[in-house]
Amino acid sequence: MAEEKVHPKKERTLVIIKPDGVQRTLIGEIIKRYERVGLKMIALKMMIPTEEMAVKHYYEVGGDAWLEEVGRKAAASYEKKGMKSPFATFKDNGIAIMNANAKYLSSGPVIAMIWEGNQAVALVRKITGGTEPLSSDMGTIRGDFTLDTYQMADVDQRSIRNLIHASGLVEEAEKEIPIWFNEGEILSYRLIQDEILYDVNLDGILE
Ligand code: GDP
Ligand code: MG
Repeated sequence: MAEEKVHPKKERTLVIIKPDGVQRTLIGEIIKRYERVGLKMIALKMMIPTEEMAVKHYYEVGGDAWLEEVGRKAAASYEKKGMKSPFATFKDNGIAIMNANAKYLSSGPVIAMIWEGNQAVALVRKITGGTEPLSSDMGTIRGDFTLDTYQMADVDQRSIRNLIHASGLVEEAEKEIPIWFNEGEILSYRLIQDEILYDVNLDGILE
């Protein structure tokens, strides 16, 4: 059966300002970065997630494949430092990271948001920057506002603190959004700027 294609301008992504982002008083700064590029906020809430909810967010969405992948990434970072991973398998390393992540995400208030716009998932990832703040590009949120590294996180056996969660793929966003928002909390509305960003003929400007 042919799936109905969503127009690129309707793509949605989940962003969570993690507890360190709230504590660093970066809520306004972070929202500004997504807003100024032309994305539209269609849902927003402040909450303290439970650890169960945080596990759900990581595990239900990514499953064993995500555990393996994140474990492989972590093992590579041990290797880069000339160290051997203390975990027997990638999956074990992934589980340890997931549990640490769940503790981190549930350690205080967070801001959950849905942003909509042309290829919102990739655009938000670009603005957010790479996972490890040390190597996130300058000009990205993670690169500009924080300094954590895999090395320090590993020494202290905790999750890397990188201010934000942002969906990595469209399919990830589709699974993550219902964990954080009911349909009724997601708003559908027009912004004046949608005309200039998306109108096909651009014929509404001249009087
Ligand atoms: P993201 O999509 O860029 O946030 O990265 P991932 O989805 O791969 O990982 C989710 C979160 O887990 C990251 O934002 C980090 O907080 C944490 N994390 C990922 N990989 C590692 C790692 O190798 N070591 C540690 N300590 N934390 C990690
Ligand atoms: Mg991710």
